Amino acid sequence: SKILKISPKWNHFSTKVEYKPIRSVLVANRGEIAVRVFRACNELGIKSVAIYSKEDRAHIHRLKADESYLVGEGLPPVQAYLNIPEIIKICKDNGIDAVHPGYGFLSERSDFAQAVIDAGLRFIGPSPEVVRKMGDKVAAREAAIAAGVPIVPGTDGPITTKEEAKEFCVKHGLPVIFKAAYGGGGRGMRVVRNMDEVEENFQRASSEALSAFGNGAMFIEKFIERPRHIEVQLLGDKAGNVVHLYERDCSVQRRHQKVVEMAPAPHLPVKVRDQMTDLAVKLARHVDYENAGTVEFLCDEKGNFYFIEVNARLQVEHTVTEEITGIDLVQSQIRVAEGMTLPELGIVQDKIKPLGFAIQCRVTTEDPAKNFQPDTGRIEVFRSGEGMGIRLDGASAFAGAIISPYYDSLLVKVISHSKDLQSACAKMNRALREFRVRGVKTNIPFLLNVLENQKFLNGSVDTYFIDENPQLFN
Ligand code: ADP
Repeated sequence: SKILKISPKWNHFSTKVEYKPIRSVLVANRGEIAVRVFRACNELGIKSVAIYSKEDRAHIHRLKADESYLVGEGLPPVQAYLNIPEIIKICKDNGIDAVHPGYGFLSERSDFAQAVIDAGLRFIGPSPEVVRKMGDKVAAREAAIAAGVPIVPGTDGPITTKEEAKEFCVKHGLPVIFKAAYGGGGRGMRVVRNMDEVEENFQRASSEALSAFGNGAMFIEKFIERPRHIEVQLLGDKAGNVVHLYERDCSVQRRHQKVVEMAPAPHLPVKVRDQMTDLAVKLARHVDYENAGTVEFLCDEKGNFYFIEVNARLQVEHTVTEEITGIDLVQSQIRVAEGMTLPELGIVQDKIKPLGFAIQCRVTTEDPAKNFQPDTGRIEVFRSGEGMGIRLDGASAFAGAIISPYYDSLLVKVISHSKDLQSACAKMNRALREFRVRGVKTNIPFLLNVLENQKFLNGSVDTYFIDENPQLFN
């Protein structure tokens, strides 16, 4: 059919987009998120294709796809999944239509999105230009400002010297947070509360960033005290329609990494939610955002909120949004990439009504008694919690699975959905107690402590929660 090119900016409700079905999807990822995407493909009647490293040759994600291909022979385990030319070649050689990047790995690499498109394939995600812009902290902040979204005061760009760091701190006051300009995943961050410690901490943080991310450039932001991490899920199509699917609260973090996520955010004033979701949609429209994405905010005790970043990809915690909205985000991603519009998918803002409350616990193979050291080995016994309102998203959660040391330690995501926070907690608590895992240690005892904590049950936790409650580790 003929392509009708319409500028999305001026046609939010246009339905004139070329529709081109996707018949096969390669997932450039592994583990639970690869399986999550295969399941969506399967339900849509689309062929699913896996790639796997040599370390993952016996991994279940390979067997859950209709086809699978070895990648990165001779490369280290993580590098294998980052080998763009080889992944593209597999797609071309095997007539694959589209690529889903999952999260992590190549998901935020605009050069990957571009390479997929240049090879004549569909990228199931935003345009390479948007991936690039949102991955660049400076460009993302500029876009937020232009769309009228409040941002955390911070340096205008990456800085490299302790003198610049000092200057910022003197001008804006303490506390501040140092962030690796080219880092992510909560790593490489450092909070500074004392002027005497600015320079030394900067040097240290910068050299850590250099060794972890290959670049010592840093950003400095004002540190928001006792923030809640609240993020808005977005979905956009090729016609310029953008909707939000309400918010998630991801304040339960260990070392700035999310552990328990929920939707909607407990006790969030309606006015704040409306502003947040409205601004997130404005930001998405401003950059012609297409496909799924998340705008992350930090919210202070007074209800002020500040943009921190956009994740131009599917997130680990997308499940809780699916539970409360009933919308399959991965299927929607694929449909939008085919050229279907949100109204054609029945996804219009007024009809998206959150129902009840959902919680996700990330069950990892980490030993809480040993400072969350990753545990590896063969799972000897595995029984999971189940029953009404419980969803499990995993890949290697079964007896006989080998937990290798090469990749992240996420074993299974347990999601509970019920009418409110308390009953979703009760359901999660009950389900986690039904688990029996022998052979590797898990963080389930820690998660149960969280679920029984009164503050958590009241829905009043902020990002300090885990640090302030060391008894959770017992
Ligand atoms: P990453 O990209 O590494 O995940 P983010 O910028 O999303 O990093 O931040 C991760 C977490 O770090 C946030 O959820 C929050 O808990 C903490 N954080 C980041 N920036 C600030 C800030 N300016 N003030 C307070 N906490 C922050």
